[in-house]
Amino acid sequence: MWDIISIVFGAMIGSFLNVCIFRLPKEESIVWPGSYCPHCKNPIKSYDNIPLVSYILLKGCCRHCHTAISFQYPLVEGITALASLILFIKFGLSLSYLFYFLFVAALIVITVIDLYHQIIPDVISLPGIGVGLIASLIIPEITLFNSLFGILLGGGSLFLVATLYHWLFKREGMGGGDVKLLAMIGAFLGWKAVLLTILLSSLVGSITGIIVMLSKGKDFKYAIPFGPFLSFGAVIALFYQNEIILWYLRYKG
Ligand SMILES: [Zn+2]
Repeated sequence: MWDIISIVFGAMIGSFLNVCIFRLPKEESIVWPGSYCPHCKNPIKSYDNIPLVSYILLKGCCRHCHTAISFQYPLVEGITALASLILFIKFGLSLSYLFYFLFVAALIVITVIDLYHQIIPDVISLPGIGVGLIASLIIPEITLFNSLFGILLGGGSLFLVATLYHWLFKREGMGGGDVKLLAMIGAFLGWKAVLLTILLSSLVGSITGIIVMLSKGKDFKYAIPFGPFLSFGAVIALFYQNEIILWYLRYKG
């Protein structure tokens, strides 16, 4: 029963995340006005705004102008619902569940906005650092020291890499947004997870970069945003950091 509630709750939050994804880059209010069709601007009635269900009932089109609704909407709702369920199974009905769900929800918004606009909004990452720090005082999974050290290591190390890159290649490599995002990841997950996130995101990011360069040619100018890779690394670290560290220690020894 609780599993179903966590899925419904997740889908509802996912619906709100879609609003954030659409409006935050345009600096519009996320609470007012209510949802509207981006094409014909008609307000979306509450019965047409049920996460996942409405998309299927309306066959993916606006009721008024019949313009196709972006597949991003049900996709974000579905992923958020799934994230809610998996976190609920892992943490149960607890504050840990709520804080980590908030964290993953922030990563989802950051990932999609970064893919579209190549920016990571400060309005998510900066409060996120504070929320992660507060969470460390409340939930048993992380200590205040670990969270603080995570912020310093996350912010500091990427800042160092970004400065070095800029100095070597005389152009912007990693944005300041990535630095603040990694500081937020450190606040929620601690310093070991920061190292793991850097490792995983660099690995997956380089492989993706090579594939893109091979298929699009070397002169391909679109800079691949790094936020989605950091988010991916952070989610893996959230679920598997202990297993991966144990595996590494055993492998080394
Ligand atoms: Zn419409």
